[in-house]
Parts: sequence; C-alpha cells; structure tokens
Amino acid sequence: MTPEGEALLLAGGRALQLDLTPHLRTFAQLQAALLAGNAGMNLTSLTGERDIILKHFIDSLSCNRGGWLQGGMRVVDLGTGAGFPTFPLAITLPDLQFLAVDATRKKTDFVTRTAAALKLGNVTALASRAEMLGQQPQHRERYERVVLRAVAALPVLAELGLPLLEIGGLLIAQKGQLGEEELASGTRAAALLGAELFHVEHFELPLLGAPRSLVLMRKVGPTPAQYPRRAGVPGRQPLC
Ligand code: SAH
Repeated sequence: MTPEGEALLLAGGRALQLDLTPHLRTFAQLQAALLAGNAGMNLTSLTGERDIILKHFIDSLSCNRGGWLQGGMRVVDLGTGAGFPTFPLAITLPDLQFLAVDATRKKTDFVTRTAAALKLGNVTALASRAEMLGQQPQHRERYERVVLRAVAALPVLAELGLPLLEIGGLLIAQKGQLGEEELASGTRAAALLGAELFHVEHFELPLLGAPRSLVLMRKVGPTPAQYPRRAGVPGRQPLC
C-alpha cells in the first residue's frame, strides 16, 4: 500500500470514528492478497488502490456504523465473495467470530487462505448456498448477527438470512441507494419470517459521497420451517 493509500484508509477510518493505525499492516496484506488472487481468478472488479480502500475496506467497515457488532458475537456473512465485509470487520473486531459463506468454492478457498496468511483466527469460510445452511440444525437459529453486502434485494436477503438468526438477533443488510418499494417488500417478507424492521439508516460513504443504506431486521420469533425454500427459489420467486 502506498503512503497515499495509508492516508486514505486512515481518513476513511476517522470518518467512521475508527483509528485504523494499528491495522495498517494487515490491510496492506489484504490488499496485496486481493491483487495477487485476482491475477489467477476474477475475485473483484476493483483493482485500483483507491477503489479497493474506499469501496471494499471503508465500505465494509460502514456495515458497523452504529456499533451493532460487538462483544464475542457469532456473525455470519452471506455471499461474502472475496471476503467482504468479513475481512475489514474481522480485522477491527478481533473478539467476534465470523463465518464467511459463499456459494462459489474458489471464493471461499481464497477467504480461507487469506485468513490464514493474515493470521485472522476469527474468520472461517464455508462454501455453501445460504438456502442449505438455513435448513441445517448446526447453523439454523445459531447466530447473533447476519451481515450481507451487495447480495440481493431485501426480500431475498430476509429469506436467506433470518433463518440463521437466534431470537433477538439482527440481520444487517448494506445496500446502495434503497427505494421505498424495496424497503416495504423487505418489511413484509421479514414479518413472514419471524422478524420486524428494526432500524434504517441512510448515509454517504466517507470520502466517496456514494449513497448507502443499512437496513436492520430483528428476529422476534421462530422462522417457519419451510423457509428458506430450495436453492434458487428465494431469488427466482421472492416472498414479497
Ligand atoms: N459481499 C461481497 C460479494 C458480493 S457479490 C461484496 O460485497 O463484495 C454476491 C456474492 O454472493 C457472490 O459471490 C455469490 O456467489 C454469492 N451468493 C449469491 N447468492 C448466494 C446464495 N444463495 N448463497 C450463498 N452465496 C450466494
């Protein structure tokens, strides 16, 4: 990472009330791993340093605006891709346990290798469809938080994520610009799945000024056993 990159990362962190100084080295290693991994397979379309820092690192950290991730929580990141938001969150929140899930094994293999290289003992990766995980007793209703960034529309996210949450747990979805219609359909889907809309926050990404929204759903009762439906169905036939 160049000195300009370090300054950018620190400035983005400050805008989120985070001091990233102790983590500069790890973020630099993550950037290098991403670029090296990208040479062999298509992990991310973002390859410029400024883009990686703002659109992957700072953007991922913004999932914890409001501090909903804390203590020793068990967090599952659905559709983690090359490890986002898991890596930036796991670097800055070492006491939390992250399970990074993606349907594509080459991506979860990258996450596993990179977690080891960065010595992040709090990151585990698993190649699975979220629909399968949600029906497995060892994962269903076992997590305190589910985070999702850039995976699908809210009603789909709700069906994939809410079954994994224990009662009282929060689903945290990070979205770009969010329309009223998507919010309304997501809220209706949440009600079918044992959850309620808990909090919505609109903000601009530090330094980029791009619009983002965080949508939080809170699990208030068990999810009916038929959800999530079979792999692919939540996306093809959204609940609402
Ligand atoms: N969260 C990452 C990646 C977003 S791309 C980021 O913000 O950069 C969406 C990812 O979700 C893809 O890697 C895709 O393989 C994965 N995905 C989509 N639907 C999924 C499902 N049902 N179960 C597991 N992974 C899924």
